[in-house]
Amino acid sequence: MKAVVVLSGGQDSATCLALAVRRHGAGEVAAITFSYGQRHSVEVKYARQLAKKFCISAHKVVRLGFFREITASALLDASMPIRRGRKCPNTVVEGRNAFFLMSAAVWAKALGAEEVWTGVSQADFSGYPDCRAAFIRAQERTARLALDWPVKIVTPLMRMTKAEEWALAAKLGVFEIVRDETVTCYNGIPGAGCGRCPACRLRRRGLREFLAATGSSKPRR
Ligand SMILES: [Zn+2]
Repeated sequence: MKAVVVLSGGQDSATCLALAVRRHGAGEVAAITFSYGQRHSVEVKYARQLAKKFCISAHKVVRLGFFREITASALLDASMPIRRGRKCPNTVVEGRNAFFLMSAAVWAKALGAEEVWTGVSQADFSGYPDCRAAFIRAQERTARLALDWPVKIVTPLMRMTKAEEWALAAKLGVFEIVRDETVTCYNGIPGAGCGRCPACRLRRRGLREFLAATGSSKPRR
């Protein structure tokens, strides 16, 4: 096995999975999805579908159910309205990627894989500190030391805008899959989503920019 992809079921991770499959072949790629009490838990179902669609060799859904006990987030509590906040939206789940990436690295070692792929992006930055390149570098070093395993955290989307991500999906031949069969929306509505939450706005703006650049007409979704 070559790579373990952190697969949430959203646009970023689906694009990342497509890229990993293109790079290594589906037989060398596994994916890990986390069920952590997220309000849009329907994304786990979409992650399973994506794993099947891309015919990857293994997919694991792992429960990390303790976040609600140690932190508050609008992403973990459907009764909390989603707000933008001064630094970052109140949808941030503190330290989430640290847990995700370490768990993925542990499984990667068990599979003999030396790469962990994640679709985090710094360019269209939502203000989440654990999406920054500096954090990823530190986390890679931490995982290497913790596991004594030469794991590399691969972040192909780190410097891409959402529009560039759509272009990449199109280039990989998975534009329709990413557009229609992923959940980015914090309210758990697949495809174009609710259109109002910050995740939907970011996704939609990127899609418009991409379609404008390619001269396509207005999208169905
Ligand atoms: Zn939404």
